[in-house]
Amino acid sequence: MLEESEARHRILEWTSPGSVIWVPLELALDQVLSQEIVGLIDSPPFDNSSMDGYAVRASEAFAGARLRLVETVQPAGGDLGLTLDAGEAIRIFTGAPLPTGADAVVMQEDVEVAGGIITLHEGVEPGENVRRRGGDVCAGQILLRRGEVLTPARLGLLASQGIPEVPIHARPLVQIVTTGDELVEPGAPLLPGEIYNSNSPMLQAAVARAGAIGAASHAIDNPEILRETLSRALAAADLVVVAGGVSVGERDYVKETLTELGVETEFWRVRVKPGKPFLFGRHPDGTLVFGLPGNPVSAFVTFTLFVAPVIHRLLGHEVEAGPAGPGTLSGIAAEAMANPGDRPHYLRGIVENGRVRLSGTQQSHAIYGLSRANCLIRLAPDQSVAPGEPVIYRLI
Ligand code: AMP
Ligand code: MG
Repeated sequence: MLEESEARHRILEWTSPGSVIWVPLELALDQVLSQEIVGLIDSPPFDNSSMDGYAVRASEAFAGARLRLVETVQPAGGDLGLTLDAGEAIRIFTGAPLPTGADAVVMQEDVEVAGGIITLHEGVEPGENVRRRGGDVCAGQILLRRGEVLTPARLGLLASQGIPEVPIHARPLVQIVTTGDELVEPGAPLLPGEIYNSNSPMLQAAVARAGAIGAASHAIDNPEILRETLSRALAAADLVVVAGGVSVGERDYVKETLTELGVETEFWRVRVKPGKPFLFGRHPDGTLVFGLPGNPVSAFVTFTLFVAPVIHRLLGHEVEAGPAGPGTLSGIAAEAMANPGDRPHYLRGIVENGRVRLSGTQQSHAIYGLSRANCLIRLAPDQSVAPGEPVIYRLI
């Protein structure tokens, strides 16, 4: 049985950022840049006024000064190529290009206008109320680096440079295949012995949250049907995530069916609780295959530990493959917790202000406790934690 960190390491070994596509800014939110972006133009592109007021020479613009008002007005949106001569002021508006010869703008609130003359109540310093060309960004400057996430503000920055598209890594397509004779889709009536398929919508949502595109199909525990369903999934997707049927039960056909379809099992079974029967394999065409245990909590935990990091790396995110995996945080236990077993145990927890407590029944079918949880608490084998002691967790 593999250790958790070894399992993650072996999976990530087969994973590198996906193919690069160029997308318009509207589709790039939260995506990862695949190459650095350099500034194309100075921003602002020209010296301009930051106020509605009067363009002046600062050396002449002291309190009480009287300046001749030029008849032509300089509005925003076009450069009239005006020149300011000694003793003059030119009416100017926010964002308008500064006339040649002017080096400051007096706010209109600080001026009295009468008979073609303005009288200043306040003086201005050189550069006052002027936004200099290149004052924010210079052409040639590195704006964003490879691996950086495109936030709304960064998309705004790119737009301000006139850049309409960016190179990112394509979202992988993930096919989820749930298995089991006992499963019924929500909305249909439940007959005796049946349960609803909760893994399908849960895993599809987890795939979407991780940043990939998810689709789902279901196969009953019949080798023929399973082969058909898995074969279609392998042909269509970058990643195939099978839930259920990977254990040692008589009707657990997933492993042998994957083998028949040419998938090489890299490993089966990981020392982790819940989720021991986790399987990882590869199809010769490059598709990665994950077999998750069917119990919803086990499926969720193993998806979080072993599949989400793969999606993140395919999208171009940095993924550290440290011992407890990416995204591990430290908090303080609000209650006693213990793991008497010989596998790391991921307990469902609630973290508030750094204090961590347990969330409901800790059994691998108990999805209510998982639904209340906002973190998975990791207890090492034989670890017990007293209230007030540190404990590690990851947010979910
Ligand atoms: P398996 O891994 O197929 O042995 O399933 C383990 C347990 O998880 C069984 O009790 C199944 O009924 C349950 N289970 C399997 N798949 C799902 C699913 N998609 N939704 C809810 N429960 C499931
Ligand atoms: Mg089953």
